[in-house]
Amino acid sequence: MIEAWPKSAAAYAEAVKLMPGGVNSPVRAFKAVGLTPPFIQRGEGAYLYDIDGHRYIDYVASWGPLILGHRHPEVMAALENTLHTMGTSFGAPTELENELAREITAAVPSIEMVRLVNSGTEATMSAIRLARGYTGREKVVKFAGCYHGHADYFLIQAGSGALTFGVPDSPGVPSATAANTIVAPYNDLDAVEAIFKQAGEEIAAVIVEPVAGNMGCVPPQPGFLEGLRAITKHYGTLLIFDEVMTGFRLAYGGAQARFGVRPDLTCLGKIIGGGLPVGAYGGRREIMARVAPVGPVYQAGTLSGNPLAVSAGLATLKILKEPGVYERLETLSARLEKGIKEAAREAGVPVTFNRVGAMFTAFFNPGPVTDYTTATTSDTKAFAAYFQAMLRRGIYLAPSQYEAAFMSLAHTEADIDRTVEAAREAFQEIAA
Ligand code: PMP
Repeated sequence: MIEAWPKSAAAYAEAVKLMPGGVNSPVRAFKAVGLTPPFIQRGEGAYLYDIDGHRYIDYVASWGPLILGHRHPEVMAALENTLHTMGTSFGAPTELENELAREITAAVPSIEMVRLVNSGTEATMSAIRLARGYTGREKVVKFAGCYHGHADYFLIQAGSGALTFGVPDSPGVPSATAANTIVAPYNDLDAVEAIFKQAGEEIAAVIVEPVAGNMGCVPPQPGFLEGLRAITKHYGTLLIFDEVMTGFRLAYGGAQARFGVRPDLTCLGKIIGGGLPVGAYGGRREIMARVAPVGPVYQAGTLSGNPLAVSAGLATLKILKEPGVYERLETLSARLEKGIKEAAREAGVPVTFNRVGAMFTAFFNPGPVTDYTTATTSDTKAFAAYFQAMLRRGIYLAPSQYEAAFMSLAHTEADIDRTVEAAREAFQEIAA
């Protein structure tokens, strides 16, 4: 049992003097769970080690990218090879980029052509610009609780950190920009229909997390994605799947392969960079042909297609292509789901466990959780107590109720059974 983090506390005390909240991305500050964060020393497989000498079973996986676990030997070897034989960056074409682009276009059903960028945020903001440039329209529909990075027009009822901190409308977002974003409830096709009846001809794009991860894990209800496809097609609006989280996680071809719905544009990130900064957006050739330098829609990047990042991504995808990989992730994740549900039931703690493949959230409410409204009925105090109890038992979860957790191929049955054991004790602490 972990009682104290003296070195991390000292490092954090210094960090807060240097960086806002001591961090470079808000949720890392652990504000929602009433702690200060352990500082990480290193990762290895399914484990994280902090500078105070504690080991954790990691379900954050750097917020999704590390589906193979930390420091996978083949990813390390690819990085070393690129570093020693190529260098770090050229800002000029490399064969590696062809390779990753080939891999992505072959894997993701809707992507015929792709542009690599450096983050999920860049992918979504570029896709929106492209959708606007392509359709000549300005309005965008997004869903409450979905997070698409921190571009101005997405910080409106956004999920993830913005949801955790209760500042869905960030100061600094111009009202004129916000006015072009229309927010609909997730899983509510009637609401989307109503919006389109009013303004359909002005809407450039509907952007959606095909499985939401940023209000916690919320799956699409049967027919929701198909309905979005039909409505957008009818109005000449582009459908954008933000698969930054779900891409190569829910299936090799992402959520669109799993659910059989084909968007016009797809955003990727996280896994395709294997733990280094990469994002991508892609879609039909005819739409992608509007991107500079072939077309007029401008988008660029000094480090885009960076050889180190691309080789880490390629090495990761190579392993994900092996047979049985997604079945293994499913087996492990189902085992965890079963254990956590049982443990919560035994302790009498109302928990709703939402899961799609290797992406899941335990919501502290009786459920069902189908959208932003139902997600935010969660007992966040109980979540914080659970989080703390788990951390002290060496289980590293995302420090907010409104995040998804991730299974990796490095996790073992033994890791999961230890996690369930910790959860059983944690739930009993909460119930007492
Ligand atoms: N879209 C989704 C669905 C995400 O989950 C995230 C990040 N968690 C982003 C976009 C933004 O990606 P990044 O943090 O790499 O900018």
